[in-house]
Amino acid sequence: MVNGFCMKCKKESTMADAKAAKMKNGRDCVKGKCTKCGTKMFKIGKM
Ligand SMILES: [Zn+2]
Repeated sequence: MVNGFCMKCKKESTMADAKAAKMKNGRDCVKGKCTKCGTKMFKIGKM
């Protein structure tokens, strides 16, 4: 499981469907959904 910060819950939450992705500048990031509210989450860094 990957942890990230949920903007909607305003606290750390685990990420569902976490997938490694790249930002436009080539940096690694992780995209997923908050397991609590379903909001899209985003985290800079590797999984
Ligand atoms: Zn949330």
